[in-house]
Amino acid sequence: MRVAVVGIGAVGSAACRFLAEAGHTVIGFERFTIGHALGSSHGESRIIRYVYPEAHYTKLMSQAYPLWDALEQAAGEELFVRCGGLFFAPKDHPELTSMQQALEVNGIAHTLLGPEEIAERYPALVLAQGEAAIWQSDAGLLRAGAIVRAQARLAQNAGAELRESTVIGSLEELSGFDHVIVCAGAWANTLFPEQPLSLTVTRQQVTYLSGELPDYPIWIDAESYWYGFPGDGRIAGVKLARHIPQVPFDPNQQDRPTLASDDDAALAYAAAHFPSLGPDVTHHASCLYTNTPDESFVFDHPRPKITRISACSGHGFKFSILMGRLAAEAATK
Ligand SMILES: Cc1cc2nc3c(=O)[nH]c(=O)nc-3n(C[C@H](O)[C@H](O)[C@H](O)COP(=O)(O)OP(=O)(O)OC[C@H]3O[C@@H](n4cnc5c(N)ncnc54)[C@H](O)[C@@H]3O)c2cc1C
Repeated sequence: MRVAVVGIGAVGSAACRFLAEAGHTVIGFERFTIGHALGSSHGESRIIRYVYPEAHYTKLMSQAYPLWDALEQAAGEELFVRCGGLFFAPKDHPELTSMQQALEVNGIAHTLLGPEEIAERYPALVLAQGEAAIWQSDAGLLRAGAIVRAQARLAQNAGAELRESTVIGSLEELSGFDHVIVCAGAWANTLFPEQPLSLTVTRQQVTYLSGELPDYPIWIDAESYWYGFPGDGRIAGVKLARHIPQVPFDPNQQDRPTLASDDDAALAYAAAHFPSLGPDVTHHASCLYTNTPDESFVFDHPRPKITRISACSGHGFKFSILMGRLAAEAATK
């Protein structure tokens, strides 16, 4: 089959690879260059985890994990750092309780740690009185930018043609293909003026603070939605950010501003929970969230022979390889 893929970010690069490796004729179109920093998939790290308050995401991740392992093998480079993860909140917080239930229902091994065990094993984290943490060993970080580039490379090796600096203005331009997969991230609505999705694009900032967390897990504060990483070995300092959608942002605006107030918020959070980090900001960057009202993903067929897919809402990277594979299957089966 001849399949067009619009958008070569996390999902599109995966879709191109799976289609090409299955022997289909694939042309991928990317408005910028592959690995650019104006969408949602650039940077050094994204969290991967089974640990979710919603059991269906935990279950879906058991299909995504083997795909990440296979990608790493095929690419021959480190793309997934399985450093484990800590998920903390007040002991009886509903998110923490739901996370535990989701792990139990899906049979995923995990451990509950109290403040004393945290102080002994992960002394950089200061838990507040009455907080507890779930430890889960399969969590870690995905090397986001490197993954997009690796998937694009593997797709090309398998015969895909990837056209950069090419904006698809309308789906009619692709009428000669047997199927079109649209995974355009923050631009998802531009190709469907008559069937728009309820999406809000927001600018999100990540901040790296001076200090080190060697051999550390990723972590999520399930009450405040701050989260962070160990050092990624590429950028000096330690990255943290907050998973709360910010103000709406036009993705066609060419610059991606960074705000001192966001850095200050990261410093204030670290002062309370990771006092060994700071006081310097070693790096910061902005990225786009594309949010649905309930933070779920979009996977639909708005017209015959069109698959529209978006691993969005600020938590889609870990699923993007699975979304790419499902899109490839939907297009060809
Ligand atoms: C700050 C931040 C932190 C995040 N943290 C996590 C995390 O820890 N864990 C996690 O799982 N997820 C996380 N996410 C979410 C995750 O990164 C995104 O869900 C994912 O990267 C989205 O991938 P995508 O392929 O849908 O979009 P993109 O990667 O943006 O790809 C869409 C591509 O389509 C191209 N395009 C658009 N329109 C056209 C057109 N008309 N013609 C040609 N090309 C077009 C764009 O240029 C772009 O390259 C985070 C996101 C951000 C911003």
